[in-house]
Amino acid sequence: RPDWEWCKVNGCYNNKRKNPHKHFFSVPKPNTDAKAELAKRWLHIIGTKYTFETFPFGRNSVVCEDHFTPSCYERDLRNELMGSRPKRRLKPDAVPTEFHQRKSLDGRRQGGSVTKTNQSTVIIQ
Ligand SMILES: [Zn+2]
Repeated sequence: RPDWEWCKVNGCYNNKRKNPHKHFFSVPKPNTDAKAELAKRWLHIIGTKYTFETFPFGRNSVVCEDHFTPSCYERDLRNELMGSRPKRRLKPDAVPTEFHQRKSLDGRRQGGSVTKTNQSTVIIQ
């Protein structure tokens, strides 16, 4: 399949074609030491199969807006004052923090907080 800018978060299946109204943010490119540290944090958090060395940094390596809280964004005062929708721009040190358990509830595994019992799947909060 074409790599159509899928969200790289483990267990998230959003992409730009299916979710044209969502914002997608590129994983920070490690072109400085500080950015490299930030990129490592992102990769650790999103649970990708790639390592820092093998991750395909670039336009198609994105994380969707579902994984960010409002405090991750720069304020867009101009659009706020004019009453239009603020542009979504991440703060320079923002990292994704929101990982919903929804995928686990419908039977798919995500992350390390799910344990199987004989009867059912138990989610430990
Ligand atoms: Zn996502």
